[in-house]
Amino acid sequence: MADDLDDDIRRLADLLGQAERCVAMTGVRLGATEDTEAKAAGSAWGEAASLEVLLAEPARFWDNWLPRALEASRREVTPTHEALARLQQAGVIHAIITQAVDHLHGRAGGGEVIEVHANVLSCRCTRCDDVYALSEVQGLLDAAADGVPRCTREGCNYPLRPTGTLWGEPLVEDAIIRAWDMAAWCDLFLILDTQLRTDPMAMLPSVPLKRGAKVAIVGTTRTRYDRYAKLVIPRPAPEVIPGVADLLAPGPADQ
Ligand SMILES: [Zn+2]
Repeated sequence: MADDLDDDIRRLADLLGQAERCVAMTGVRLGATEDTEAKAAGSAWGEAASLEVLLAEPARFWDNWLPRALEASRREVTPTHEALARLQQAGVIHAIITQAVDHLHGRAGGGEVIEVHANVLSCRCTRCDDVYALSEVQGLLDAAADGVPRCTREGCNYPLRPTGTLWGEPLVEDAIIRAWDMAAWCDLFLILDTQLRTDPMAMLPSVPLKRGAKVAIVGTTRTRYDRYAKLVIPRPAPEVIPGVADLLAPGPADQ
């Protein structure tokens, strides 16, 4: 098995080494081995984090959404996020398009990260657009008699909402346009731990494929693009990506 893993790492490193313009795309969570996206869409989380619930039952929305957003905000950057950031800094990967809302790619600090759902790290006023960190929102919620955090700007008092995208809302337009641009520009599109079942992001790999760019897929769930891919590695990205980064972008500790 170890030899097979080494082979997989070497094959992906070769492909990345040959590419001039690699763009990576990640799912809602690196290393997710189950059907996280479908679960999220069908679960209480998906339902409770919807625009409809925010508008119709705001107290229930905040009761469900805020603890989960706080959990996501407390996640730590993993060795895989760090490895991807190193590959970005080395110029091997030019941009990361992500469906994650925890902002860990951004915190890893490798370079351009396109968050198509934005992230859950802040909320904003629905009238004046003032931005509030989650910790502030928690304080406002604790103090709110009706279970709805409100803007503290003098004379405003409008309800807050998450800055990022909710279920039932379109994705962030600027991010989608940039994601489509990058997918059309790359000569290697690297898909990491995403099942590609939710449109419009599920359509994105068809952009490089139509232009003749290579697609490589790492992840334990089969996707509709597997048969068009130059390379498919049926392992979670955390098994593969740190090894690839060690070959192509060794950090100071490895030298
Ligand atoms: Zn306001």
